[in-house]
Amino acid sequence: MYDVIVLGAGPAGLTAALYTARAKLRTLVVTGPMVGGLIAFTYQVDNYPGFPEGITGLELSDKFKAHAERFGAEFLDGDATRVDFSTTPYKVSVGENVLETSSVIIAMGMTHKRLGVPGEDRLMGRGVFVCATCDAVLYEDRKAIVVGGGDSAIQEAIDLARFASEVTIVHRRGETRACRCLMDKVENDPKIKIFYNTEVTEILGDKRVKQVKLKDLKTGASRLVDTDGVLLAIGWDPNTAIFRGQLDMDGDGNLKAEGVKTSKSRIYVAGDLMDKRYRQVVTSCGNGCAAALEVIHQIEGQRGE
Ligand code: NAP
Repeated sequence: MYDVIVLGAGPAGLTAALYTARAKLRTLVVTGPMVGGLIAFTYQVDNYPGFPEGITGLELSDKFKAHAERFGAEFLDGDATRVDFSTTPYKVSVGENVLETSSVIIAMGMTHKRLGVPGEDRLMGRGVFVCATCDAVLYEDRKAIVVGGGDSAIQEAIDLARFASEVTIVHRRGETRACRCLMDKVENDPKIKIFYNTEVTEILGDKRVKQVKLKDLKTGASRLVDTDGVLLAIGWDPNTAIFRGQLDMDGDGNLKAEGVKTSKSRIYVAGDLMDKRYRQVVTSCGNGCAAALEVIHQIEGQRGE
């Protein structure tokens, strides 16, 4: 029986675990697919305070984990496959393993959205990809297209251009929503160009991506462009399917919450699932900490401490 099970091992989950373990609560982190979550796929984190030279996403993930372990947090690799929040103790299944806990912190993050165009699913992993840090090396001296106009698309294009010979960002609007700091880098990188007001309507290729069909949204004209890869960076869907019917959520699968409090007592949410607006490592750590403090106050209150 755990005091708290933390679902997800990104910055929010690992910070929450550090706090609850340090408060001597029996804490288990169910890691999900990757310790570090999305930052494990980030080549360089330049804006986490305390690391003036920047730090790789993998190194920062390892440090977060080591910090939680130092205070006794336990880790279980794997995905939570089912939950039962109908009665206490709450139950969390990881495969055959059914775990019991008095509270839960959900920090399972988001997964990449898909375009929904012909060729995308068929060529996924064969030129269609979602992570520059993971796959950029495969594009050494090759051409790639990055779809999207947010910070992710711009950051991914910069990471990809370290290897690729040419990176083209394709964005459906006339301007991006990315921060100036990232746009400056893109505009100063001779390998990167941007097609504005343009949509990818099809991804073509037999065994691998060979071309994309682009539609100019101003003129309506379509054309084929040669490319070796298509990186999708068009936003995220929440990883909340296992909570359907257990917690209140909207039609897009976002958990309904007030701050870190979900619709059920002693179940909290943190990280990207809680904060759609800022989604920075440091803000995720902040709301992971807030969720942990709620758990700590509640359990200490129950024990009369
Ligand atoms: P985002 O801000 O939601 O941007 C998604 C982009 O994809 C938008 O430009 C959107 O176009 C486009 N898009 C969505 N659906 C599309 C579709 N079906 N077809 C074509 N384009 C589509 O997502 P994000 O870039 O992943 O960023 C999410 C959050 O993480 C933000 O708060 C961001 O600041 C943060 N973040 C920060 C950093 C950093 O600080 N270095 C890095 C990555 C992410 P529209 O503009 O037309 O909506």
